[in-house]
Amino acid sequence: MSDLSRRNFIKSLAAGAAAGTFPGIISAAGSTPRVVVIGGGFAGATAAKYLKKWSPSLSVTLIEPNAVYYSPILSNLVVTANLSLDRISFNYNDLKQKYGINVVHQYVDGIDATGHMVQLADGSKLGYDRLVVAPGIDFDTVPGLDFTKVPHAWKAGEQTLLLQKQLAAMPNNGSFVMTIPKAPYRCPPGPYERACVVADYLRVNKPGSKVIVLDANADITVEKETFSHAFNVTYSGIVEYHTNVTLQEVDSDARRAITSAGNFDADVLNVIPTQKAGKIVHSSGLVNDPTNRWAGVDPRSYESTTVKDVHIIGDSQGTGQPKAGHIGNGEAKVCADAIIRLLGGNQPYPAPMTNSACYSPIRSATTKEASWLHAVFAYDAASGKMKMVPGSLGAGAPTEKNYRRMFDWTDNLFSDTFA
Ligand SMILES: Cc1cc2nc3c(=O)[nH]c(=O)nc-3n(C[C@H](O)[C@H](O)[C@H](O)COP(=O)(O)OP(=O)(O)OC[C@H]3O[C@@H](n4cnc5c(N)ncnc54)[C@H](O)[C@@H]3O)c2cc1C
Repeated sequence: MSDLSRRNFIKSLAAGAAAGTFPGIISAAGSTPRVVVIGGGFAGATAAKYLKKWSPSLSVTLIEPNAVYYSPILSNLVVTANLSLDRISFNYNDLKQKYGINVVHQYVDGIDATGHMVQLADGSKLGYDRLVVAPGIDFDTVPGLDFTKVPHAWKAGEQTLLLQKQLAAMPNNGSFVMTIPKAPYRCPPGPYERACVVADYLRVNKPGSKVIVLDANADITVEKETFSHAFNVTYSGIVEYHTNVTLQEVDSDARRAITSAGNFDADVLNVIPTQKAGKIVHSSGLVNDPTNRWAGVDPRSYESTTVKDVHIIGDSQGTGQPKAGHIGNGEAKVCADAIIRLLGGNQPYPAPMTNSACYSPIRSATTKEASWLHAVFAYDAASGKMKMVPGSLGAGAPTEKNYRRMFDWTDNLFSDTFA
């Protein structure tokens, strides 16, 4: 199907939905098909919204334990107290009231793929025809690491506030030590962005302090020019950047990182551990990529390459796309469109494309500047490897205009997901 005819198809679904005339999909047994979505983050909430928007006759249930979602996007600016946590908080009222999604605040303990059921923490079970799994990330265990003393602040909320509080209590001439895990991890520029905004905060509020960055990677993984300039010029004498450092153990009481490059003592220690697909993806046998970390899926539908009728989107998928909220929102739309087609007895669109954008605040304490990074991904049918490959790439240097645009971009993404 050409791009144009696909757009017309989507338009006709949306038009039918708006007019309430879309004929609806009836399952073989004559009942309304049930789609269950696990996880109400950027990927899961978008999938639930667009399934219902494009096919109002579907029964869509979103299962998310928390009544409030805290966006990791922009959360570094909450760490430095530039923004309040409220600014990145979202509830599920619009998804319930505007779109008629059944939102259940529970944790999913297990998936019975044979019986097409999910098991909830309260012991109840919910049947599905198609299941979308979007639980984000889980962390590898680090010996000695206690997140109540050494925050990751890589899932937003309490952890963000804990790191904010520790930073505010830091003495002058103090040291903020942070670790970056081996890629792939959630938000490729995110850790470098954190180093920059914390350095700017310290320069103004805690004179003489340093940011020591211990990167498990061989080099800055993205926006190399921007972050090299930030570390070597903008924050010269404040940021100390070390590569190829493997974290081995943490002494959480002493705030000490024990690494392949020696021990680092900190006033504030921020450990971002190595990452993998969310727990439920692992416990349900959906992880089948060569690294044993992420879920192999067909990028045309995000259906698992292992388990039928189960689709994995967002940070947990292993298609080669970055682990990022903007692209998770795009994956969710491709997945919702594919599920509607499959339930109607059709094939998924064969050549999906997605795009990713990240704005990174580089200065936020004195002047306010942000850089940006953009990439378009396309399904690589020729390789037969179930991968999405990057096409055009773009990056923008830190400017005040980009800092303002960062909020236009996030507000657009936030409302496309939750409103
Ligand atoms: C500092 C920082 C800056 C970032 N900046 C950007 C940026 O500029 N651009 C960008 O695109 N991305 C950015 N990101 C990345 C982005 O936040 C993540 O990629 C995105 O949140 C992933 O969405 P998700 O839906 O896969 O997972 P999540 O947002 O983590 O949502 C998963 C949801 O699933 C729920 N869940 C988990 N397990 C279960 C279960 N068993 N049962 C029920 N529910 C469950 C969780 O409660 C959670 O609400 C940033 C991240 C960080 C940390």
